[in-house]
Amino acid sequence: MASETPLCPECDGEVEIPADAMENELVSCAECGMELEIMNLDPLELELAPEVEEDWGE
Ligand SMILES: [Zn+2]
Repeated sequence: MASETPLCPECDGEVEIPADAMENELVSCAECGMELEIMNLDPLELELAPEVEEDWGE
């Protein structure tokens, strides 16, 4: 199984994506700590997550 390692848009560091990641899930970059949103899983696309969102309850 080939696993792609996407790069952080902030620092170009490699970002580990959990195997069970879903689109629109947030991950954080191990290099710079930025929150990143998974925009697309195939191919993997990351974007900086908005700083504050009001959807705390889930
Ligand atoms: Zn980063």
